[in-house]
Amino acid sequence: MTTPRTRVPGEALLDDRGPHAAQRPTEGPRIGVLALQGDVLEHLRLLAEAGAAGRTVRSVADLEALDGLVLPGGESTTIGKLLDLQGLTAPLRDRIADGLPVLGTCAGAILLAREALTHDGRPSPQPLLGGMDTVVRRNAFGRQVASFETDLAVEGVDGTMHAVFIRAPWIEEVGPGVEVLARVDTPLGARVVVARQGPLLASAFHPELAGEAGLHRLFAATVRERSRL
Ligand code: GLN
Repeated sequence: MTTPRTRVPGEALLDDRGPHAAQRPTEGPRIGVLALQGDVLEHLRLLAEAGAAGRTVRSVADLEALDGLVLPGGESTTIGKLLDLQGLTAPLRDRIADGLPVLGTCAGAILLAREALTHDGRPSPQPLLGGMDTVVRRNAFGRQVASFETDLAVEGVDGTMHAVFIRAPWIEEVGPGVEVLARVDTPLGARVVVARQGPLLASAFHPELAGEAGLHRLFAATVRERSRL
């Protein structure tokens, strides 16, 4: 059986033999970007800014020799199904249990949660990776038209970050081992949008769409600490 190859526009340019292969950083911690849906090049660029050697991850073999992993946004139900199809769900759960640092943005933050809820608070049955003691509410801020941008202070990141929220979740519950790094004010009160639990970092917004490298720097520092690079 052949493994299906998933591509994002322009990705081949960075491949080993692609025209921009030389621009692909090889120094620093090896951080993968899950490349089953999209937002891959944007994350690779921010990882390069953070001094990490980014690479795409589509198969179990790609998980080997990784010091850290980014789970981009998209549609968490679809990404969950694609992870199952690629046979990645169980190996990733094992790596996470072993302490692999993971940055999950938006749908990625949903995948890292122990439980997902629908926008109106019902259980959302879908495959998750888990790892964080969090409950997330999907599409919590409303529909696509309620997507928004704001400037946010995030603990551990210098200055403010321009945060792009697209059909974003919020983190409804955090367990005792989870640090809250940022909240957003809503008409219902402040809601958690960035949280950390050990080597796992979850953001409800898309730093890669605003070219904001702050969270990737914070994440790369965690990866370096863990892998002593
Ligand atoms: N609404 C998506 C989900 O529930 C997440 C949106 C995103 O990643 N921008 O999976």
